[in-house]
Amino acid sequence: LPDAILPLLAELAGAGNLITGEPLTIRTNGYWDTSPTKAMAVVTPQTLIQLQAVLACCHQHRQAVTIQGGLTGTVRGQVAQPGEIAISLEKMSTITHFNPIDKTLIAEAGCTLQQIQEFARDRQLLLPIDIGARGSCTIGGNIATNAGGMEVLRYGMMRNHVLGLEAVLADGTLVSAMNQMKKNNTGYDLKQLFIGSEGTLGIVIKAVLQLQPLPTSRETALIACRSFTALTDVLDSAQRSLGETLTRFEIMDGDYFRAQTQPEGHRAPLADKHDWYALAEIAGYSPEGDRVQFETWLEFLLAADHAADIVIASNQKQREELWLIRENFDIAIAEKPFFLYDVSLPISAMEDYLAKLRGAIHCQWPGAKIYTLGHMADGNLHFFISPRCSGSEDELKLRADEWVYGELTAFSGSVSAEHGIGIDKKKCLHHCRSAEELQLMKSIKRLMDPYNLLNPGRIFDL
Ligand SMILES: Cc1cc2nc3c(=O)[nH]c(=O)nc-3n(C[C@H](O)[C@H](O)[C@H](O)COP(=O)(O)OP(=O)(O)OC[C@H]3O[C@@H](n4cnc5c(N)ncnc54)[C@H](O)[C@@H]3O)c2cc1C
Repeated sequence: LPDAILPLLAELAGAGNLITGEPLTIRTNGYWDTSPTKAMAVVTPQTLIQLQAVLACCHQHRQAVTIQGGLTGTVRGQVAQPGEIAISLEKMSTITHFNPIDKTLIAEAGCTLQQIQEFARDRQLLLPIDIGARGSCTIGGNIATNAGGMEVLRYGMMRNHVLGLEAVLADGTLVSAMNQMKKNNTGYDLKQLFIGSEGTLGIVIKAVLQLQPLPTSRETALIACRSFTALTDVLDSAQRSLGETLTRFEIMDGDYFRAQTQPEGHRAPLADKHDWYALAEIAGYSPEGDRVQFETWLEFLLAADHAADIVIASNQKQREELWLIRENFDIAIAEKPFFLYDVSLPISAMEDYLAKLRGAIHCQWPGAKIYTLGHMADGNLHFFISPRCSGSEDELKLRADEWVYGELTAFSGSVSAEHGIGIDKKKCLHHCRSAEELQLMKSIKRLMDPYNLLNPGRIFDL
């Protein structure tokens, strides 16, 4: 019987760590899909021993498992399929070590990103990764998805901040690779197998994270532009004038800005008539000098006619208000359905790509809303596409996929800049990975998880 394994798991998981029956009905698929989970049970181990025992049992009984962090992933990797057991790391959420000299900490996988950010900030340090889901997403999920976010431009993706980690394999074996140094060329760097592999090769249980000195200055401006060309001019001059203090460069198209700042939305600090808006932020260690440098750059943008209008945040509250327009998108996506995309392509190709994509969509769906936003400096664009026409949601999504990914192939773009492949994008993986690459990925999966039990059907089917 499929659920014959449950009494065994109840014993191995520890008291109160196996959720079934009535309590299971209130567990959902997470942020993007609040319908009840289809998992047969959710296991919430509190210790490594419990987790290893649960996995060994699942391995012995050929029981498939889904790994769950904060359930904010956008490609449904964390969504349990019928018959699967979900293993949630939510009770393994302690920061166990901190080393002020090396500026490192060790966090268990279930720590939220915000928990670690705050821990570091209290010690005048920075974990330089930030995403809108910071309050819910976990460091284990961030590592498994190699999360990106708003500061990749300066500090790189999650991978850059992980010095070492521990992971449990499908059969319960612990692989400890808790390296503490930046340099360690001693054979294969095995931690990289677990970073960005979306839980298909092992369960990350803790990690050594590299922190940075906390910047002492931060300056933010919202910049309105009349065209995409002007936007690229603004980015180019920011990179030349601000150097490595440039930490964030996020863009929003005019339609997204107007949707976000409609009367019942966020306050519009600039007129909403412009085609493009950029949020630029610097962070440094010289408050007065940084402010002067930033203002000089903004003056140049106006003088050179790269910017049509600019507003600068004069305190933290104003800065937060500006970021809300970019980050808190509930208002823009209130009318369902909407489809979220995460692609990357060369900045030089973006304007052409956007024109073709908008043309293709509006030709078939004249009332569609297409909101473009994202981390432009990393070549990463996000879209929210709302068809605003009749048809089944699945069919509409397929059409939108064809346009978004079809146009992308011509520009050698990637179907996933930072969100991963999960279940949703596996049919598109061939757009940006060769047959040989896919074959090697599958061979690694077969070696590490021969019965295909960890997050099966994520990234690819075997
Ligand atoms: C408002 C909002 C903004 C976002 N912004 C960004 C952004 O800017 N950049 C970005 O990259 N993403 C962004 N995301 C997506 C999401 O937050 C990230 O993918 C995040 O890293 C997922 O973490 P999680 O703990 O929620 O993982 P989950 O959603 O629970 O899981 C995601 C994947 O990781 C696997 N997994 C989770 N924990 C582990 C573990 N311990 N070991 C092995 N595998 C594991 C899961 O099985 C699943 O495949 C955003 C999401 C939201 C809701």
